[in-house]
Amino acid sequence: MGDDIPKQFLPLGGVSILQRVVEIYCAHPSVQRVQVVIGAGQEKFYEQIFPPNHKSEKLLPSVIGGARRQDSVRLGLQTMAVHTPDYVLIADAARPFTTAKIIDDVVNALAPNTAVFTAMPLADTLKHQNGAQTQTVPRKNHWLAQTPQAFPFAKLLELHQELQHEIFTDDAALFESAGLPAHIIPGSARNIKITTAEDFQLAEDMLSNFNDTRIGHGFDVHRFTAGDHVWLGGARVPHDRSVEAHSDGDVILHALTDALLGSIGAGDIGQHFPPSDPQWKNASSDQFVRHAMGLLRARGGKVVNADITVLCEAPRIGPHRDAIRARLAELLELSADRVNIKATTTEKLGALGRAEGLAAEAVVLVKYSNF
Ligand code: MG
Repeated sequence: MGDDIPKQFLPLGGVSILQRVVEIYCAHPSVQRVQVVIGAGQEKFYEQIFPPNHKSEKLLPSVIGGARRQDSVRLGLQTMAVHTPDYVLIADAARPFTTAKIIDDVVNALAPNTAVFTAMPLADTLKHQNGAQTQTVPRKNHWLAQTPQAFPFAKLLELHQELQHEIFTDDAALFESAGLPAHIIPGSARNIKITTAEDFQLAEDMLSNFNDTRIGHGFDVHRFTAGDHVWLGGARVPHDRSVEAHSDGDVILHALTDALLGSIGAGDIGQHFPPSDPQWKNASSDQFVRHAMGLLRARGGKVVNADITVLCEAPRIGPHRDAIRARLAELLELSADRVNIKATTTEKLGALGRAEGLAAEAVVLVKYSNF
């Protein structure tokens, strides 16, 4: 699959498989850091997904892996060792349907000196082929191992270093080789690993099966202060005032972020980007929307449409409407006809009517695929 582009970088439902997997782990509250290991020469594909200026609390800079899967895991572990984690989960970059529930089950089973992994019992009859002869292998107690697989960090790193001259096709095998116990978590048939073109089509079909529709609403207001422009929907709009804000004060993007978070029951923008955190000072608000979109995708969500209302006496939105619409369509992965921008004054009533600030409301419809 993917002769020119490695499969984990191929877009699945418009978003690369790797990005989906990274977002799933970054969105999980038990996961503190995510280390991606990429192949030599894949830097340009990786940077298209996560550019060097990408800000994330959890995602560490990628590292280059080795010739074999186990070399890549070892190099990733060595890089993470500086953070002295207690436990580590190893995940295939090709399993975009791993759910928070699977990660919960694995994390809840963590124990010292024990491997934990998800696996599927065999449903089909297991055959062993020897030339023209076949034999039936009793399938009792046989499992098909999946990922995530979880381990005490220091022990896994030690085994990877000690056993690097042997060959292993998964990480639990190193624990097995050391005679250490393993705990199997029954996995999910939906947690497929995308290997073939047929898997890819199946994954597209799974993603297109959206059957859970939710709505999200957001409201944001900022007070005017001295200045010469405001940011609205990612557009720099000249004005005789600016707004007081910790970030760029873009009320459209803030209301939109809250609407996206609302659709997944994920609280509000202040919980995800505390104004007290210096990393968001003067931040471009695009990244708040991108973060919320990542959480939404990690839950199998896709935005259907967005409707935005800006409330202010000035500036006039009309001249900037098309630019804002195009920018929001890009951030929300929609065609422009699914994004609507409205503007109204408040008839000089109240604080907004006295032009003390400006506000925006956003409503989004989101469909979820319960994969
Ligand atoms: Mg705000």
